[in-house]
Amino acid sequence: MNFRKNVCLKHFNTFKINVKTNYFIKINTLKSLNFIFNNKKFKYLPKFILGNGSNTLFVNNFNGLIIKLNLKGKFIIKEYSYYVIIASFASESWTNFVIWTINKGFSGLENLSLIPGTVGAAPIQNIGAYGVEIKDILIGLYAYEIKTGKIVFFDKKACELNYRNSIFKNKLKNKYVILYIYFLLKKKIINSIFYIKK
Ligand SMILES: Cc1cc2nc3c(=O)[nH]c(=O)nc-3n(C[C@H](O)[C@H](O)[C@H](O)COP(=O)(O)OP(=O)(O)OC[C@H]3O[C@@H](n4cnc5c(N)ncnc54)[C@H](O)[C@@H]3O)c2cc1C
Repeated sequence: MNFRKNVCLKHFNTFKINVKTNYFIKINTLKSLNFIFNNKKFKYLPKFILGNGSNTLFVNNFNGLIIKLNLKGKFIIKEYSYYVIIASFASESWTNFVIWTINKGFSGLENLSLIPGTVGAAPIQNIGAYGVEIKDILIGLYAYEIKTGKIVFFDKKACELNYRNSIFKNKLKNKYVILYIYFLLKKKIINSIFYIKK
């Protein structure tokens, strides 16, 4: 496992705040995630799941373990005549994910282009721009329950998405790690600066 001590977080947050964390780990597999949450050494350490650090303001050194997810992959799950189901792992860059959908000719995420961050963090505050929010196209997501190690499916309703808000910022704050997300997009020609007509 890629486990480090005394790591500077300057390059892991958008504000480039120059703070340190006692421990830092990059997580590439579910097995490693399980290990971290069950290992005695780390069990009682404060932990923070870090995406791209674009909605995180570190004000002090972090006395705990920063968990940097590195779960990648984006897929077309099923195509219908007018709709398509797509999915992505949490650590994909949100911007790259949006551009990927646009270049496939799928519509729904265009207005959310260039919002910094990861796919996994997007439902946490129900990201939105120009009248569109994640809640308009989200089907549901799989998340890791920290207490039990179970993988739980949340449909859109269960995510309790509201303006820049979700259940993961409230009742379930710090209780789940978002792993994998499904979206329903339309198949149609779109107007976007990222659309490359083939
Ligand atoms: C210049 C700029 C422009 C922005 N524009 C917009 C905008 O137009 N609309 C908008 O809605 N937002 C906007 N934001 C906010 C930001 O882009 C979003 O909040 C984004 O979703 C943050 O993603 P991140 O991966 O950087 O999250 P981070 O900052 O890394 O994490 C944010 C929170 O989510 C938690 N988290 C991250 N990943 C996971 C996971 N996989 N599982 C569980 N918890 C997790 C973290 O613990 C933390 O509490 C903007 C930010 C910046 C800096």
